[in-house]
Amino acid sequence: MRLSVCLLALWVAALCGADTSQPAASTVRGKLVVHDGQPAEIETAEHRRIQLDGDDPTRKVLSDSRLNGFQVEARGHFTAPGRFQIDPIHTHSFLVRQDGKLKLVTYWCDICSIRAYTPGPCVCCQRETTLDLRDPDQP
Ligand SMILES: [Zn+2]
Repeated sequence: MRLSVCLLALWVAALCGADTSQPAASTVRGKLVVHDGQPAEIETAEHRRIQLDGDDPTRKVLSDSRLNGFQVEARGHFTAPGRFQIDPIHTHSFLVRQDGKLKLVTYWCDICSIRAYTPGPCVCCQRETTLDLRDPDQP
């Protein structure tokens, strides 16, 4: 009983989160819709579209057309109704579902064996890196 009262208090605190300076953290899930030159969106199971934003590296990942149509999961917070700010890229808050598992989006250069977290040319040989979805628990 005491536990459920605690949970209720937490729930009320979460609802009141909008009044505090710290926005309530949440997770959004759905299909990624990548646009050319416009912010990517998530289409939820209820067919609601949520516009995604994040830091610069996250924005680069969000504009990668190879990720279009993937089921994704993003942690962060809403900045407005229908607008979602993803947590910084080093917190690994943007994950892609593949074969029923959540994967981290990484980019790999197999010539230099260098891994990057944003799409684009390899920092070493300037060759285009390949998309490499990885288990987030892997080192
Ligand atoms: Zn390279």
